[in-house]
Amino acid sequence: MVAEKRALVSLEDALAAVTEGVDPLGTEVVKVQDVVGRALVGPLRAPMDLPPFDNSAVDGFAIAGTDVQTVASDSFRLVGEAKAGDRARLLHPGETLRIFTGAMIPKGCDAVVMQEDARVQDGIVTFGVGARTGENIRRAGTEAKAGAQLPSGLQANPATLAMLASASFEQVEVRKKPVVAIVATGDELVAPGSTLAPGQIYESNAPALAVAACAMGCEVASVRSVADDRDAISRACSDALESCDVLVTSGGVSVGAHDLVRPVLRELGVEERFAGVAIKPGKPVVFGKRGTCSVFGLPGNPMSALVGFAVLVRPHLLARLGVWQGFIEVSGRLLHPLTKKAGRVELVPANFRDGVFDAFVDRASYKPSLLAAANVLVWLPAEGQVFEEGTEMRALVLDWGPS
Ligand code: AMP
Ligand code: MG
Repeated sequence: MVAEKRALVSLEDALAAVTEGVDPLGTEVVKVQDVVGRALVGPLRAPMDLPPFDNSAVDGFAIAGTDVQTVASDSFRLVGEAKAGDRARLLHPGETLRIFTGAMIPKGCDAVVMQEDARVQDGIVTFGVGARTGENIRRAGTEAKAGAQLPSGLQANPATLAMLASASFEQVEVRKKPVVAIVATGDELVAPGSTLAPGQIYESNAPALAVAACAMGCEVASVRSVADDRDAISRACSDALESCDVLVTSGGVSVGAHDLVRPVLRELGVEERFAGVAIKPGKPVVFGKRGTCSVFGLPGNPMSALVGFAVLVRPHLLARLGVWQGFIEVSGRLLHPLTKKAGRVELVPANFRDGVFDAFVDRASYKPSLLAAANVLVWLPAEGQVFEEGTEMRALVLDWGPS
């Protein structure tokens, strides 16, 4: 039998196929305290000026004077104090008020002088420095005017929550979490903790892929591990296709006689968009669709499965959430020389620190431990074969969390 020779798509084309023109997920409303990790459905508009009133940026003295340029030579009469939470008072020319960070700026106040630059004696305040009009005043609406669009485009983080809370949002509309199903295939797989018979190995892809999906904000509806049996794979995938947004399988997508995932998916009506990407690890990866459900068939080698997740599945999930912005890249120099065959992009796990890639010379894709120590994937271009020590390279940041 002659093994099937596949036409490989480039990683760039594969990435475009999984991130462009995707079906957006539905939306739901969540409480602001539950928003972290969720994708906001924009545009969100500020319901009022932020900050809502002029306030002091420092602890100091609020001054009123017709010509604040002459502050350094004038003296001001201390008439009281204003702390955060107080209503604004009225300040007349020649008067000053002890003011604290966040306090409302008194009416008539032109500037706030830092307390470090002030001398107070017998109720009279003098300053060693001048002051510009508006100095140390945080003006109302300088973060956002009422009605202005608030930033979005990433999954919400604690700062997003702070932004929403400061604008008094109690609930917001977000994309529903992508519902993900995992089906791992392989006769050799047994659950960690059980006794291994000769020829068996512990299942590691299913739990790793499930956690990877969860960590970036998906709901994992089911995780199954089945034998290399057409009916078993078909049942597991068929169930998953009924209920999930994204089905991720592991194993069984190469060209071996026991690689049954592709024919089963075809039988189930999954329309294949590509099968085989010119990358290493991860070459046999398959992508298809049935209705609004997307299907990724990842190869079984643990590093291939996880790199496939990082460079194709995760971007797709982020695109479905409306927050895919491309990979975060870094550049640096190689600590060790690397070699490869021409023809495929190689993504080499490396630890990046201080501008240097400590890339793993041994990068066999059956070793998940290599990826466990990596924070980037160094991008070795398809054409190149030898990359000397010190060569300037770029790398994709390995991000397992939300965008
Ligand atoms: P396959 O893609 O099915 O040809 O599998 C490629 C290699 O990955 C084989 O050595 C498998 O034993 C291994 N493998 C497949 N699935 C898993 C899994 N779920 N966990 C760990 N190793 C796996
Ligand atoms: Mg297999």
